[in-house]
Amino acid sequence: MDFALTEEQKLLVATVRRFVRAELAPLEEEVELQRRLDPAKARAIMEKSRALGLYAMNIPAEYGGGGLSAVDYCLVEEQFGYTTDILIRRAFGNVYEVLLEGTEEQKTRWLLPAVRGERTFSVCFSEPEAGSDAAGIKSRAARDGTGWLLNGQKHFISDGLFSDFFVVSAATDPAAGAKGISLFLVDKGMAGFKIGRDQPMMGLAGTSHVEMFFDNVKLGPEHLLGVEGRGLKLAFDTLGRIRLAQIGARAVGKAMRLFGLTADHARERRQFGQPIGEFQLVQQMLADSAIEIETARLLVLRAAWALD
Ligand SMILES: Cc1cc2nc3c(=O)[nH]c(=O)nc-3n(C[C@H](O)[C@H](O)[C@H](O)COP(=O)(O)OP(=O)(O)OC[C@H]3O[C@@H](n4cnc5c(N)ncnc54)[C@H](O)[C@@H]3O)c2cc1C
Repeated sequence: MDFALTEEQKLLVATVRRFVRAELAPLEEEVELQRRLDPAKARAIMEKSRALGLYAMNIPAEYGGGGLSAVDYCLVEEQFGYTTDILIRRAFGNVYEVLLEGTEEQKTRWLLPAVRGERTFSVCFSEPEAGSDAAGIKSRAARDGTGWLLNGQKHFISDGLFSDFFVVSAATDPAAGAKGISLFLVDKGMAGFKIGRDQPMMGLAGTSHVEMFFDNVKLGPEHLLGVEGRGLKLAFDTLGRIRLAQIGARAVGKAMRLFGLTADHARERRQFGQPIGEFQLVQQMLADSAIEIETARLLVLRAAWALD
């Protein structure tokens, strides 16, 4: 097995690395202190990222994305992991691959503007009583002529204040359990759709995680994403790749940055007349961390390789 990066991969990693350090990292302190990202700066990040071809890189090239393989995507996210989530969101775009399952009309209306950075969206599965148990949702889309009436509640929805539209799970056949859930495209501002409280998280400064309420939101047939009753499968099938990269690889990137900061501190901080990094116990802690980070990194890349 060849573990070496290709020349293209090296160039990709170097480009993202430069962009993160030059354009995103300098904004970290401001975001942390103000707990928000200035909208003009958010727009500037999106435009610069698009100009470099970094925006929506996970989406196939035929739709205007970067067409990255899962391995490339994880290599990119390791570099993005160096900085704060809100900055990564604006630079990368978070275009979930679930939209690729739309009809051609849906792709034109919802996917393409998202890839171009004109509109952003979030995915809405979690409810107060249904987190890990995504099939246990209470939100209901009941038949109403050729469409549906959506009622229910979601919570913890990332970027809910910023996003323009949402992919929402709801039971269309509650008796069928996991096989009776469908996905719907819901635009912000539709009658009966309200965004609630921004739920504070530890860390994650500058992003929003919101409650949502749906009260008889009228959805036409064009709002159904994929096949009725197959929504949960569709979500699981398409979220795996993005989660491997955005959670697995990004976490590895964050750990790598923290390791670098820790090693610097061990070199610079002096106690008992010497740098603390010269104490064997501190060296052992650093060595253990390095082993764990490299192990996690290989595990993520191996999963990505298997996906490809
Ligand atoms: C920062 C952040 C952003 C989020 N963004 C979104 C979003 O954009 N859209 C969205 O839909 N959701 C979002 N979520 C919600 C997220 O998907 C849920 O938090 C997740 O599904 C877990 O649900 P829960 O928090 O209700 O925990 P629970 O499901 O209540 O789990 C609690 C604990 O029990 C454990 N547990 C549960 N079931 C089992 C089991 N069968 N066996 C063993 N252990 C088990 C879990 O691992 C966990 O440790 C976000 C959450 C966070 C923290």
